[in-house]
Amino acid sequence: MTSSYDAIIIGAGHNGLVTAGYLARAGWKVLVLERRPVVGGACVTEAVFPGYRVSTASYLVSLLQEKVVRELELPRYGYKVFPKDPAYFAPYPDGRHMFMYQDMARTCREIAKFSAQDAERYPNYETYIERIAKLIEPLLLQPPPQFPPQRLNDWLDPLRAGRTLLGLSPKQLADAVKLMTRSVQAILDEWFESDALKVALATDGVIGTNGGPRTPGTAYVLLHHVMGGVGGVRGLWGFVEGGMGAITQALAASAQAHGAQILTDAPVAKVRTRNDSATGVVLADGSEYAGKVVISNADPKRTFLNLVERSALPEEFVAQIESYQCEGSSFKLNLALGELPDYSAFPGTTLGPQHKGTTHICPTMEYLERAWDDAKFGKPSERPLLEITIPTAYDSSLAPAGKHTMGVFVQYAPYTLRDSTWPEEKESFIRRIIDTLAEYAPNLPGVIEHVHALSPLDLEQEYGLTGGNIFHGELSLDQLFFMRPVLGWARYATPVRNLYLCGSGTHPGGGVTGAPGHNAAMELLRKQ
Ligand SMILES: Cc1cc2nc3c(=O)[nH]c(=O)nc-3n(C[C@H](O)[C@H](O)[C@H](O)COP(=O)(O)OP(=O)(O)OC[C@H]3O[C@@H](n4cnc5c(N)ncnc54)[C@H](O)[C@@H]3O)c2cc1C
Repeated sequence: MTSSYDAIIIGAGHNGLVTAGYLARAGWKVLVLERRPVVGGACVTEAVFPGYRVSTASYLVSLLQEKVVRELELPRYGYKVFPKDPAYFAPYPDGRHMFMYQDMARTCREIAKFSAQDAERYPNYETYIERIAKLIEPLLLQPPPQFPPQRLNDWLDPLRAGRTLLGLSPKQLADAVKLMTRSVQAILDEWFESDALKVALATDGVIGTNGGPRTPGTAYVLLHHVMGGVGGVRGLWGFVEGGMGAITQALAASAQAHGAQILTDAPVAKVRTRNDSATGVVLADGSEYAGKVVISNADPKRTFLNLVERSALPEEFVAQIESYQCEGSSFKLNLALGELPDYSAFPGTTLGPQHKGTTHICPTMEYLERAWDDAKFGKPSERPLLEITIPTAYDSSLAPAGKHTMGVFVQYAPYTLRDSTWPEEKESFIRRIIDTLAEYAPNLPGVIEHVHALSPLDLEQEYGLTGGNIFHGELSLDQLFFMRPVLGWARYATPVRNLYLCGSGTHPGGGVTGAPGHNAAMELLRKQ
């Protein structure tokens, strides 16, 4: 006999688990089905090397919404963050270096080594970003307005949004529009003169994105990355004790404590529909589960082009999903090290501040734009941007005594290669990354004990991220807010009755935020 549930959730990514947690707390009978052997999706800790625990995909937390952490009682289930300090370290080829700390005065002294004017302006820049982030933040945990409006209430939502805009001064409005539309370089050029500071800030605008610092729209991606914080400090990022998987383990435990059932190794092959309405799911092994609603944590392309019968969807909707931009350009390299990196610009292999921040290998804005130039023409960057983190600098339990793990998030690695394939390209790209690291930390190649690498193709095949896109779809203005994933269907419902979305392909987009999962649950509870 087919088991029956109030809600079946396809995928135990962090958003699926957030939705499960809220619905289970409201008394719903919830089943979560995850295709992988572990829960977590891209927010996971895995033992890819014997004796080590590695955040294989995402590696830092900041965007996870405080409301979700509090309401789903995550600290009670083991969630704990170590705020990064220093937040940032950059070694340069000329032997200089720059740190950014939690303490503003200390950061400004570092910036002043490169430009006294930039050091003076930096606190004002932070205030400017904070002001705009505060305008947008209240929208994160609300469904976007229904567009085109259908009921009376649907007309009120845009009016409420309009009222917020009317409350802005002309300068504030202009600043907000510039940040939503311009390139990150255009914004930073208005503020600063030194490449050292511009690079430190610009990378948040290009990470996970198909664009270089001069690509319009990248300023919004920067803003997306500062709408959060840890330890009460806005924009600050932190390491999670036990790795990123500790977030999803806590979410799973929280949902299970309220009765949710979670099955792993349970790939959903098909959403069952009858009379244009979802009635349940069929797994790859043929087993079936019935649900009053089915909620997909998979990305929009995977959900509608793989799991739902095409005949159950309007033609126009399918065309919009087909043209949804969802190709990534990121590569993740996870290393096990016998010794910490010894940076020429800040020597030492004993744990020091240079190991505790996010380290960027990216000497200039031009280096970054040129890295994108390669990707634009279908090649992995000849000289890639490297973002390095060492989780064992905060949590030594992740590796055997005296050993370390290092995550290297690499841009750019286009999903679609022009003259080659990822199986052909992967090893030489890994070598190029390690050679680049060695220019700054010459001891590194000799102390690497294990290597685990994820190309965009691996992200698609192993983690289910279509096109290897880390955000379940480009964070471009045409795919945000009431247009995410597509115009008319931004409030978690879909053209198939009783089929909902709850993943990063819905508002407000990707990153470990918990916001799409929260919003989807609230919509379902409201409709109940
Ligand atoms: C390499 C990398 C680095 C990143 N770094 C960071 C970072 O440091 N900080 C940050 O905030 N964000 C980061 N991100 C982005 C962030 O991790 C993701 O945007 C976010 O985790 C997506 O969460 P989700 O729950 O929406 O979807 P996912 O995590 O993708 O979860 C979807 C789940 O659905 C499952 N699924 C799919 N299809 C089926 C099916 N048919 N049947 C059953 N299950 C199915 C998948 O296996 C998966 O578990 C990174 C992402 C990547 C890939």
